[in-house]
Amino acid sequence: MTHEPKIALVTGANRGIGLEIVRQLARLGLQVILTARDATKGRQAVQHLKADGLEVGFLELDVTDAMSVLALKEKVEARYERLDVLVNNAGILLDEGENVLDVEPETVRKTLESNLIGPWLLCEAFVPGMVRRKYGRVVNISSTAGQLSSMGGYAPAYSVSKAALNALTRQMAYAGGKHVLVNTMCPGWVRTDMGGSGAPRSVEKGAETAVWLATLPKDGPTGGFFRDKKAIPW
Ligand code: NAP
Repeated sequence: MTHEPKIALVTGANRGIGLEIVRQLARLGLQVILTARDATKGRQAVQHLKADGLEVGFLELDVTDAMSVLALKEKVEARYERLDVLVNNAGILLDEGENVLDVEPETVRKTLESNLIGPWLLCEAFVPGMVRRKYGRVVNISSTAGQLSSMGGYAPAYSVSKAALNALTRQMAYAGGKHVLVNTMCPGWVRTDMGGSGAPRSVEKGAETAVWLATLPKDGPTGGFFRDKKAIPW
């Protein structure tokens, strides 16, 4: 019996950890859709992968724009018929070094739009089809900044957005039932534009746990929070 390759979509994948997740999933033989809010940057990333011998698709997506999510859903259905794996990677960090008592409400709003509502819209677009087809993997790229058990005063809007993304993961895992495995993870402190050049981890290492969660076997975990392929406290 031959198996069709799984179809995976990664948000915010023109650079950083998202691009590396696309690369690793494509190497494993999945059919991957790289998405980016800037079509030029997204297509450049696709060309870059092509030069390395990897063929991936491209679709434009701004996770903060509900119309963009709707248009994406229609294009995925028209071109690919289904989606098996969703990686909610796109994220922003606007308030490093700021204090919870004086962070601008606009900063909080923008952060929640990207880091929480975006993943929520994408799950609403794709999880119902996964449930119907009895197969799905959803990976939310969170952070230990959102870990309630150890939370201090670091980047308040960002940290609250990632704690909320973790809560969304629990809700979606419930909605996903036994066939759609929904998990959240921390990539560690990774050398990207967000993490900075002084971060200790490579993107390869940062993407590893997400790729593992995106390709879990059917008896894999759901509703968990992971780092380095191990469950960590909420
Ligand atoms: P990055 O280098 O800053 O890349 C972020 C990506 O998200 C970019 O491709 C960016 O696109 C995209 N993006 C931002 N807003 C978007 C939107 N509205 N719609 C679509 N795409 C959007 O960050 P990274 O380090 O790779 O981070 C990836 C994920 O890992 C984030 O969720 C982050 O919170 C998480 N994380 C990172 C670290 C770390 O140390 N790096 C640690 C913990 C968690 P543009 O190029 O268009 O801006």
